[in-house]
Amino acid sequence: MSITTNFHTHTTYCDGKNTPEEIVRQAIDEGMTRLGFSGHAYTPFDTSYAMNPQTAMRYARDVRGLASRYKDQLQILCGLELDYFSKQDTTAFDYAVGSVHYVFKKLDAAAGEQLTATAPEVVKFADGGCYVPVDETADVLRWAAHTLYDGDIYGLIEDFFREEADVVRTTHCQIIGHFDLITKFQEQTPLFDEHHPRYVAAWRGALKSLLPLGVPFEINTGAISRGYRTTPYPSFEILKAIHDGGGRIVFSSDAHDKSTLRYWFPQAEELAKKAGFRTYVVLGKTGTEEIGL
Ligand SMILES: [Zn+2]
Ligand SMILES: [Zn+2]
Repeated sequence: MSITTNFHTHTTYCDGKNTPEEIVRQAIDEGMTRLGFSGHAYTPFDTSYAMNPQTAMRYARDVRGLASRYKDQLQILCGLELDYFSKQDTTAFDYAVGSVHYVFKKLDAAAGEQLTATAPEVVKFADGGCYVPVDETADVLRWAAHTLYDGDIYGLIEDFFREEADVVRTTHCQIIGHFDLITKFQEQTPLFDEHHPRYVAAWRGALKSLLPLGVPFEINTGAISRGYRTTPYPSFEILKAIHDGGGRIVFSSDAHDKSTLRYWFPQAEELAKKAGFRTYVVLGKTGTEEIGL
């Protein structure tokens, strides 16, 4: 066992299956050294999966209590997974994972009204446009490309990576979450060509904005444990580009279940080495540290 840390963990306070304490006990049983909780922060237009600000305060109290009760066995951090569009005060938290889960498309009022009736239920109309969740189903992405982008899925992808490029500025995150989440369904239902020049230009553009900021990117294995993919986010090509551009990485399981706290980490470690990385980042109470691979 080499990697004994994870900073992307969900609980029953948002859309996870286990309580923070169940997860802490599991982490201790597994010999983990650091555990960060990252409950989904509030997005006003979609409350289906996230904590509202009051729940977030109860979550923080619960996790802080566990951190002090178990401090001799495990270092516990209390964070948030902030969506690009989250509205949440983060001062009570140790860190944030910054993630793009929606593409926002502006619409004129008439078009918005017309689309509301026919859009998939998970597409939310607010703020003069609509929020398309990119990790819901392939059909939602197909609908969005067809209806909002005249069939041009690369237009949707370019908007996704424009948000991604800006995710550190908007969320002030310490970790960049699942950078190419838009590929979630590609293995099962391929919707676009990952070698298409517009796809490659879109992610390269986002990396160009993000790499100089020095915030680590996740190698996120959450879609593997949940059966969507056989490889983590980001793709190996992107991982190599992060390395070659001087970027840093952090290992994240995006666990929604206590049994997957370090899911696929040994393989992810090999992948990171293959991409050229010699170190990875862990978070502490006072900043980040680099650990050798
Ligand atoms: Zn996420
Ligand atoms: Zn997550």
